[in-house]
Amino acid sequence: MTRMEQVQPGKTFLGRLAHDGDLLEELNAFCAEHGIRHGRVEAIGAVKKARLGYYNQATREYEFHECNEPMEITNLTGNVSLKDSQPFVHAHVTLTDKAGRAFGGHLAPGTIVFACEALVQELEGPDFHRAFDEPTGLPLWEMK
Ligand code: ZN
Repeated sequence: MTRMEQVQPGKTFLGRLAHDGDLLEELNAFCAEHGIRHGRVEAIGAVKKARLGYYNQATREYEFHECNEPMEITNLTGNVSLKDSQPFVHAHVTLTDKAGRAFGGHLAPGTIVFACEALVQELEGPDFHRAFDEPTGLPLWEMK
């Protein structure tokens, strides 16, 4: 059953991430520092290298692929919710290489920032906690 809750915009932050920082860890740390429990994230920029996940629905495990070359972040879209009571950023990215070819997937630790302009918008409303979801094997939002 589709379930959605109404949320309201809270604080909005715009800025750049640290050069040589880990893209996902920088976003998680920012949300934790600013008490952002729920929200949305978007970013553009460039990475020195990337590590992206693909969730194999048959094995119910993530497979990771590494792209060891500089690439553009043509899109990063994500959300923030609570996992183990801590702010948790879930983001997907599309990256392009020198030839303009696109790669994409679930943003994993190991993606290193060259330059990145990010927007983080807090969303206020009911708590969204991640919990194990039996049909998918993923930590999805528990909707009561
Ligand atoms: Zn994902």
